[in-house]
Amino acid sequence: MVVETVSPDTTFQFGQSLGRMLRAGDVVCLSGDLGAGKTLLTQGITTGLEVEEIVTSPTFSLMNIYQGKDATGAALNIYHFDFYRLESAAELIDIGFDEYLSANGLIIIEWPDRFRDYFPDEYLWIEIQAHSDERRQLTLLGYGTRYKKLCKELNQNR
Ligand code: ADP
Ligand code: MG
Repeated sequence: MVVETVSPDTTFQFGQSLGRMLRAGDVVCLSGDLGAGKTLLTQGITTGLEVEEIVTSPTFSLMNIYQGKDATGAALNIYHFDFYRLESAAELIDIGFDEYLSANGLIIIEWPDRFRDYFPDEYLWIEIQAHSDERRQLTLLGYGTRYKKLCKELNQNR
């Protein structure tokens, strides 16, 4: 599924729609260059999940945790990772990535590319490409039944 957004706002709104469809245990990978819109999309997702905290790139902290609510009103922990500065798989283990994966929250990962081998088999992968100052192409790839279905629903709902 490919989505074209024409402004920061439309990317944010797409994130909100996506966020409302996410739930505990989901993994969302956001790939794209610096300034592509990974954090803005995350802000849309977290707003869709009723997070009130300010969401920024956890570039130095590697991870931020937010509390939200899914569409059914169930409380949801959101683990927002940024692997830009992560140097090795050993570091991934050090920060407790595996524990977070099994913590039944929502995992969002910026700069996931180098660490794909350490992710679960099933996840939503979103590739963001800048086409001009304000245009972005979002390519959504669903790995596994759950995420394929999610892509289909997103496509139908727009
Ligand atoms: P990243 O986390 O990928 O480094 P950010 O989300 O922090 O990127 O920043 C994206 C920047 O691009 C913001 O300054 C935003 O205003 C700008 N921008 C312009 N057009 C868009 C768009 N269509 N979608 C997302 N961001 C956009
Ligand atoms: Mg970012």
